[in-house]
Amino acid sequence: MVVGSLGLDTIITPERQVSEVLGGSSTYFALAAGFFTNVKLVSVVGTDFPDEYRSLLAERGIDLEGLEVAAGKTFRWTGRYKEDMNTRITLETHLNVFGEFQPRLPESYRGVPYVFLANGPPEIQITTLSQMQAPRFIMVDTMDLWIDHHREPLEALLKEVDGLVINDEEATLLSGQVSLPRAGRDIMQLGPRTVIIKKGSHGVLLCEDEGCFALPAYPLEHVIDPTGAGDAFAGALMGYLASTDELSPANLRRAVAYGTATAAFACEDFSVERLTQISRADIDQRVEQLRELTSF
Ligand code: AMP
Repeated sequence: MVVGSLGLDTIITPERQVSEVLGGSSTYFALAAGFFTNVKLVSVVGTDFPDEYRSLLAERGIDLEGLEVAAGKTFRWTGRYKEDMNTRITLETHLNVFGEFQPRLPESYRGVPYVFLANGPPEIQITTLSQMQAPRFIMVDTMDLWIDHHREPLEALLKEVDGLVINDEEATLLSGQVSLPRAGRDIMQLGPRTVIIKKGSHGVLLCEDEGCFALPAYPLEHVIDPTGAGDAFAGALMGYLASTDELSPANLRRAVAYGTATAAFACEDFSVERLTQISRADIDQRVEQLRELTSF
């Protein structure tokens, strides 16, 4: 199950601009996780949300019972990438109906074992969790806004979860540590047993009691649009864990590899375009390439 934004993105890269395309963290997560397992989505859209986008998610088997349609406009976000395609500036965020969102989980969602709470206010993430029965593995995402201004509820949330996935800057902000292995270790003291620090095109660091594991990003020669790569990473990782239902350190490492491979596909076109063209076999192939690339 994923709880997070679903909306319309306007994306500007040095090469092109696309307007009002399908985006949102729950979208990328759900499409990526859907290669591995059944996904239940919890989000809200306005009455202006295009039917074709809803159908796209439904056609891929994503359970939309938890997708509310509220009076008002859908969440919209505009971002621009610099030449390096790693630095992103948010130009506009219009929360619209997502700003008032209070998730109410359908009865059929409450017993789900694998839960991902995408970036959002920690207060809402806590009330979402309080509706769940006893999930086996809960992972959350967060961002600078909540680390800076909602620290207390964020720390309360972290005590309740198994995993945290954040980017390198956020890890430093949360822990006060510039060294990422040290940041990971300090964040584990706040609650999560598993801390996953994303470093964009530089890969990922997985921190657990048993030690750290590092994996480079899949080396793409041409990045078209990295939007949603982090959510696609989390989606494939959680989907793989749910499908194997095994939380050993070795399986978490494999899950990181599946996340890495799937995130690379998300970067190869705008919006969810590439994720809707590939199959599980394409992901498996890229995981094998990652294995060869990192073996010595
Ligand atoms: P990522 O590139 O993995 O960070 O995810 C980008 C996605 O997050 C985009 O599709 C946006 O629609 C969505 N997004 C951007 N800002 C926010 C926000 N403040 N709250 C929720 N979702 C957001």
